[in-house]
Amino acid sequence: MWPFLALTALAALVGILYRWRRQSREQQARIAELDQRLRESNERFRRELEQEHAGQEVIFDCMIEGLVVLDSEGRIRLINQAVENLFQLNAEARGRTLLEAFRRHELQDLANRASAQGQALGLELTLDGPSPRCLAINATAFHDTGGTQRGVILVFHDVTRLNELEATRREFVANVSHELRTPITIIKGYVETLLDGARNDPQLSLKFLQTIEKHTNRLTFLIEDLLTISQLEEGRIVVNHQWGQLHTLVAKVLEDFASRAAARNIALANQVPESLALRADLDRLQQVLVNLIDNAIKYGRAGGHVSVAARILGAQDSPERIEISVTDDGPGIPKESIDRIFERFYRVDTARSREQGGTGLGLSIVKHIVQAHGGDVSAESQPGKGTTFRLTLPGEPPSPPVR
Ligand code: ADP
Repeated sequence: MWPFLALTALAALVGILYRWRRQSREQQARIAELDQRLRESNERFRRELEQEHAGQEVIFDCMIEGLVVLDSEGRIRLINQAVENLFQLNAEARGRTLLEAFRRHELQDLANRASAQGQALGLELTLDGPSPRCLAINATAFHDTGGTQRGVILVFHDVTRLNELEATRREFVANVSHELRTPITIIKGYVETLLDGARNDPQLSLKFLQTIEKHTNRLTFLIEDLLTISQLEEGRIVVNHQWGQLHTLVAKVLEDFASRAAARNIALANQVPESLALRADLDRLQQVLVNLIDNAIKYGRAGGHVSVAARILGAQDSPERIEISVTDDGPGIPKESIDRIFERFYRVDTARSREQGGTGLGLSIVKHIVQAHGGDVSAESQPGKGTTFRLTLPGEPPSPPVR
């Protein structure tokens, strides 16, 4: 009996051992499979992280704003291209402190304060050099989900252009206020004097009323010029190209100025070839001619000459550009002023310009109109000998038409 039992027990044992072995093999295979899957998913995760990181770097480098991220020890962990360009950093900045990388105490101090105070702080910094830049920098401490401070982020905005625009705006408002106040003060003064009794003197009344009229006209011109310039600067004026004879247009403008020129004994000459046809916004071109001829008569020499000429640049049948010039033989414009006369409100002799009813905006309007046509304007002057304003317009209208 016992051999049978022993055999049965042995068989059962072999069965158990066999099952164990099979199970163990299966488990090993499963473990190997799990291990493989884990490896693959780790690899995938690593690649995704790397891609994400590279993507972030690309995004950071595409940013117009500069960005620097400091770790909890105040060392640079991330820095984008915009900052490297702004500060012209050549050496590797990662791993260094702000002071080591930028050599600017203000930056290090800003980051230290933002870190210590745990709040956003700002700073304006000027970078000297051939083209100085003005930067607005914001620094903020950042924290992990547990609330532990992990570092500081600094964002750099280049506000140079913004500051320039703001300065131009302030200067423009100051100029306009001044230009408006001067005639208004004069008008008010004369009106008060008339009311105080001067009106009883007919001769004095007439003189005062003429002065009031002159300054009222000046205000009207100023407001008209301001409206024109604001429309031109906002691009609200559409250039309506049409064909016209330049000689005829110049003749019309010169005729309008005949009495003003005669009052200063100035001879006007139309030297534009009669055959010259051009395509431009003729109303706007007339405004350009009016402003230039008006100046030539105003600032030219009493008893002198003012002439308007034109020529075709390039082939006659397909002109590349048409050049129009207005020349006087007056005292001219000093060398140091020639580049500035197209600026709004710039005058060589402010008192003289105001006395002549000038607004200081005439040449600025000329420049805008010519540029809206796709052209250019410049001035040449020889002090004591005279001035030539030269404008060139495209022979064909720009396509699509420039507004
Ligand atoms: P304004 O209303 O003062 O004439 P403009 O913009 O037309 O303003 O001209 C700017 C300044 O340029 C004038 O104030 C004057 O000093 C100078 N200027 C313009 N044209 C001439 C010229 N033909 N000869 C001398 N100076 C000129």
